[in-house]
Amino acid sequence: MHAEIIAIGTELTTGAKLDTNSQWLSQELASIGVPVRYHSTVADDLGANVDVFRIAAARADIVLITGGLGPTLDDLTREALAAVVERKLVLHEPSLEIIRGMFQRRGRVMPERNVAQAMFPEGSEVIANPRGTAPGIWLDVARAGQPTCHIAAMPGVPSEMKGMYIDEVRPRLIALGAGGTVIRQARVNCFGLGESAAEEMLGDVTARNRDPEVGITVHEATITLRIVAEAATADECDAKIADTKRLIRERMGEYVYGEEDEELEAVVARMLVERGLTLATSEGATGGLIASRLTTVVDSEQCFAGGEVLAAGRMDWGRESQRCSPLTPDPSPPPGARGDSVRQARSCRERIPATFCLAVTNVVAVSSSALPEPIRVAFVGLVGDDVELVQEVNLTGDPAIQRSRLAKAGLDLVRRHLLRPASR
Ligand code: AMP
Ligand code: MG
Repeated sequence: MHAEIIAIGTELTTGAKLDTNSQWLSQELASIGVPVRYHSTVADDLGANVDVFRIAAARADIVLITGGLGPTLDDLTREALAAVVERKLVLHEPSLEIIRGMFQRRGRVMPERNVAQAMFPEGSEVIANPRGTAPGIWLDVARAGQPTCHIAAMPGVPSEMKGMYIDEVRPRLIALGAGGTVIRQARVNCFGLGESAAEEMLGDVTARNRDPEVGITVHEATITLRIVAEAATADECDAKIADTKRLIRERMGEYVYGEEDEELEAVVARMLVERGLTLATSEGATGGLIASRLTTVVDSEQCFAGGEVLAAGRMDWGRESQRCSPLTPDPSPPPGARGDSVRQARSCRERIPATFCLAVTNVVAVSSSALPEPIRVAFVGLVGDDVELVQEVNLTGDPAIQRSRLAKAGLDLVRRHLLRPASR
């Protein structure tokens, strides 16, 4: 069996709101092994709704609809469904009592319009909605020469839709035997190298016909390896994913920093807290972004000692490009821009005492005889009692992501230092 998801709302077709329901439902259906062939988005227009429902009922075995179940005149899902199956809308008294009761408990009288929410196409089933006033609708549509199409209409409010799907719709789909093989996904996040370099290191792990399949995506310099496993059971999927994760970690080594939604700042904060270490920040070109990200982490006050933001200054000078290996400790701060990050971090550490200070310089234009034109770089420096690390970050490429990339480069310098056995 395969599915179609329909999102209803003029706020969606005009682009005023993003349809997140379809994304969520697709992932949920995949997790029980139901492939989704179509996403349709339709405005609050009766004719358009009827068209879309009719097409979906003809081409999909399962149709999940969200939106248009409210009490207002632009909520047309019930009417459109009744039109598609050519049946009347009939009042479901128990639902009306539930809706009336909800208003009473809030000390309000139910507006007459809400009666519409208790109207259902004849022969359909009511899906309870303890989270809101709009019940859902389950409707089976018989098809000539094809198996029955099952339609579930759910509210548009994401929290109500999710609750209804999990509690009511998913069990019905499973009871129908809708799921085939189970599909599970996992993500492994890496930082510090480019997409093609990652692909090279991974070798046959990213081969197209591999099981599980591994895809690479990049977002603001973070490389995400998405593992998609398919098997008869969730446990089998999990075992295959675990094997592939192990292989990825073997091949990518320290470039791997986390999994799923885990961000670099959360990883760094956790490592610092675990060791009882603290970090101060002094930021030029990142404008406080590192401090901002660190302070979003729960318990960051246990490791973040404070930070300063330097006014953007432009420093332009020519120098021979010094390509440095990222984690080579510098015995003394080198001259020029490279050394600035160390001086900046040392000076900050005098004002904000901490185990380490992470400094990001302002942007520097670097020219060298080997380069056709000056390139924009910034330096990140990490300073502690026994550590002095500098890394140059090339800021050519999409300017929209440079701050974020630079902030991540700074956080990653801390992370990689903390991976060293005697990092203090
Ligand atoms: P409705 O059930 O159509 O009255 O939708 C109620 C509210 O839920 C809308 O105002 C939107 O804010 C939200 N909503 C509806 N459909 C979606 C969707 N597909 N994705 C995300 N939010 C939605
Ligand atoms: Mg709506």
